[in-house]
Amino acid sequence: MSDDFEALRERALRLRRQGARGRYAPSPTGPLHLGNARTALLAWLQARLRGGAFIMRMEDLDRPRVRSGSAAQILDDLRWLGLDWDEGPDVGGPVGPYEQSKRDGLYKQAFAQLEEKPGLFPCFCSRKDIARAASAPHAPAGAYPGTCRRLSADERLAALDGKAKRPSWRYPAPDRRVAFEDAAMGPFAQNLARDVGDYVVRRADGLFAYQLAVVVDDGLMGVTDVARGADLLDSTPRQIELFEALGFPAPEFWHLPLMLDASGERMAKRDGSDSIAAYREAGGRSARLVGELAATLGLVPAGTVIGAAELLRALDLATFRAAVQGGLSSG
Ligand code: GLU
Repeated sequence: MSDDFEALRERALRLRRQGARGRYAPSPTGPLHLGNARTALLAWLQARLRGGAFIMRMEDLDRPRVRSGSAAQILDDLRWLGLDWDEGPDVGGPVGPYEQSKRDGLYKQAFAQLEEKPGLFPCFCSRKDIARAASAPHAPAGAYPGTCRRLSADERLAALDGKAKRPSWRYPAPDRRVAFEDAAMGPFAQNLARDVGDYVVRRADGLFAYQLAVVVDDGLMGVTDVARGADLLDSTPRQIELFEALGFPAPEFWHLPLMLDASGERMAKRDGSDSIAAYREAGGRSARLVGELAATLGLVPAGTVIGAAELLRALDLATFRAAVQGGLSSG
């Protein structure tokens, strides 16, 4: 294990022992929408009610999807909502940088650690290959069919040396049940080998995969509390496995149901129609929006107008957790 990574890991574990560390990790791929803002509000309330630090991390790892100006707009929208953070891209902090695009060296070190264990393998499959193999009669439904895991050492070397495209790198999914209790959604479990299959930790274009980056970041930032959209529930067992492989305790998770727009579709950053920016431009007030979001979390009655700081003062941790667990709605 590299000394550098080991020292950073120890520091993160120390920070973690000192108190709760919550985070919000937006991707700057478009304007923040109401669903994102609700997740951010919940993450902030949880961190503050636990008397802990709140971290802002910009997930600009997937460079081709990043939109210029989006990161600054997101931070501005979150401040307008009344949220604040102790560590982040604009305020610094002890475990930075807080932008994934500047953390490549750390992902490399983590990847090197995974390479030291048996099993990580290069995968030359195209999407088409995977779809074809996965539709074969004996293949596990929906999981990576294991094609390149079965290559012999010689075949692997030949493919790496040959003109074949650059490989992605897959982590070997263990045949074990990974179970956890989600604070919002209750118990969740997957058998990684059966339900997911070997998964990509480094993409063929050389970028590290979200699954690896998020674990390295949450691990090295000493994060204890993760709040994010329910679309990532399914990724969590993969991440718990990587936390363990890299020597980090897994945080507690809250996965929030995605909010729906007026036509019943999931809100997406791309279209911008339910964006905080649009709400602000139309003259909407922050306290009204915080009240609306808090009402969908079961924290206040519908129609309440309340600023974030005032909402925080009105809550205590136990009431907050019970209310959210009982009151989550996707409306
Ligand atoms: N960056 C992801 C998003 O904006 C969230 C990832 C996470 O919280 O783990 O959807």
